[in-house]
Amino acid sequence: MRNVQIGHIPREQTESGWFATLGDAPPARELEGTGHYDWLVVGGGWMGLHAAHRLADLRPNDRIALVDAGRIGNNAAGRCAGFALDVIPRPAKRYTALDVERDLEEIHVNREGIDYIRECIRRHDIHCDWNQQGKIHATASPAGRRRLQSVAAILGRLGEDCGWLDARAMREITGTAFYDCGVYTPGAALLQPAAYLRELALKLPDNITVFENSPIREVEYGIDEHCCRTQRGAIVAGQLLLATNAFLPQFGFYRRHSIPVYTYASLTRPLSESELRDAGHPAEFGVVPVNRFGTTLRRTADNRLFVRNFFAYAPRYRSMPSAFTKAIRHHHHALARRYPAIASIGFEHSWGGILGLSANGGMVFGRMAKGVYATSLCNGVGVARGATFGKALAEYACGASSRTIEILRNRQAPTRRWPNAITRFGVGCVTTWRLYQAREEI
Ligand SMILES: Cc1cc2nc3c(=O)[nH]c(=O)nc-3n(C[C@H](O)[C@H](O)[C@H](O)COP(=O)(O)OP(=O)(O)OC[C@H]3O[C@@H](n4cnc5c(N)ncnc54)[C@H](O)[C@@H]3O)c2cc1C
Repeated sequence: MRNVQIGHIPREQTESGWFATLGDAPPARELEGTGHYDWLVVGGGWMGLHAAHRLADLRPNDRIALVDAGRIGNNAAGRCAGFALDVIPRPAKRYTALDVERDLEEIHVNREGIDYIRECIRRHDIHCDWNQQGKIHATASPAGRRRLQSVAAILGRLGEDCGWLDARAMREITGTAFYDCGVYTPGAALLQPAAYLRELALKLPDNITVFENSPIREVEYGIDEHCCRTQRGAIVAGQLLLATNAFLPQFGFYRRHSIPVYTYASLTRPLSESELRDAGHPAEFGVVPVNRFGTTLRRTADNRLFVRNFFAYAPRYRSMPSAFTKAIRHHHHALARRYPAIASIGFEHSWGGILGLSANGGMVFGRMAKGVYATSLCNGVGVARGATFGKALAEYACGASSRTIEILRNRQAPTRRWPNAITRFGVGCVTTWRLYQAREEI
C-alpha cells in the first residue's frame, strides 16, 4: 500500500476563450460519496478522453469513471490553438537516417491521433469546426526563411507533400503582408478544441461516468485496487489510467521529470464584414511560426482572429500575473504588426494554459505499477499526439499490441530536471534568449 498526497492541483485564473464562446456549460457532475469502478481514468484532456473512449470500446461491459479537476474543455486541452498536427519537422544541422526514422514514427503516431479524432467526430456527430485544410509553417525573417528551406528539404526526404508559399501567396491566404514565406502541409486539421472536448465528454459511451470539478487530492495505491479521494468523494478502481500530463509527478511518478510551463492565447470578437475587409479578407487558415517562440495565428470559422505566443515557467503549476500581463502585451503587438487597420478592436478573451515539457523531449508511456498506467509529456504538441497516447494507453492496458504501442514504449524517457531554483533560472534564460531570437516572428 502506498499513499500519495497531491500537492498541486490544476487551478486556472482565466477562462479559455474557446470555452467561453460556447455559452453556458451543462451543470457538472461532481464526485460525491464512494463509487466502485473497474477502471478510473484521471484527466479529461486529449489523452484522458480518448483513453476512456477507447477503453469503452474494448471493455463494453466494464464500468469506467473519468475524473477531471476542472471543466472539460476549459482545461489545458481546451485552451490550445486547435491544430491537430501530423508533421512537426525539427530543422537540425545534421539530419541523419535516425532522424528520418524518428520523424516517420512521429508522423505515424500523429496521424493515428488525427484519424481517431475524426472517427469520434463522425461517430458522435460532434460540431467543432473540424477543417482538414492543413497548416502553414511561416516566417517573417531571413533566418526563418533559411529554417523553412530546411523544413521543406526535410519534408522532401520524408516523402511528405508540401508547397512553398511566397510573400504574395501568404498575403492572399492570411490577408496580412507580415509574412515573407511559408511551407504548406496538407495533413493537419484545425478545430475548435473546447467544442470538441466538451461534446465528446457528453457523448462518451454509456459505460463511462464523467466527474468534473473533482480534483483528486490523495491516492492510495493498493495491491488489487486503488483509491482516489476528492474533497467529497472517492473512487475505488481495479485499474488506474493517469492522463494528467504536467501533473503526473503529483501522483508519485516521474516526480522530477516534468517542467511545467505556461503559454498564452487571445481571441478577438467576430470581425464584422468591414473589419474583415480591412484585415485583407482572410479565409479560415492556421499558421504556426517556424520558430516556436513566435506567434501562432488563426482565422477561425466564426470570423475571429486567434494569436498564441509567449512562454513562462510555472514552478507551482500556476501562471504568474506578471507573465500573463507580458503575454497580453505580446498578443497586442502581434495583432498590430499583422493587422494594423483593425488592431484597436483588441481581444475579447485572453488566457493561459499549462504544458508539460521534459528537458530532453522524452515522454512517459506504460505501466507504472500493478494496475496503474500513465502517459504524459506531449512537449507542447498534444492534440494529435495526446489522442494517440490516450488511445494507445487504453489498448496497452487491455493487453493489445500495435506498431504505435511499440513506438511509444521505445521512446526516450524524460530525463530528471534540475532543482527548482536552477530550472527556474535555466528556463528563464532560455525563454528570454529564444524570445529575443524570435522577435521578428512575434
Ligand atoms: C495556448 C496553448 C496553445 C496550444 N496549442 C496547441 C496546438 O495547437 N496543437 C497541439 O497539438 N497542442 C497545443 N497545445 C498543447 C496542448 O494543449 C497540450 O499538449 C495538451 O492539452 C495535452 O493534453 P493532455 O490530455 O495530455 O493534458 P491536459 O490537457 O493537461 O489534461 C490533463 C488533465 O488532467 C487533469 N488533472 C490534473 N491533475 C488532476 C487531479 N489532481 N485531479 C483530477 N484531474 C487532474 C487536468 O485538469 C487536465 O484536464 C497548446 C497549449 C496551450 C496552452
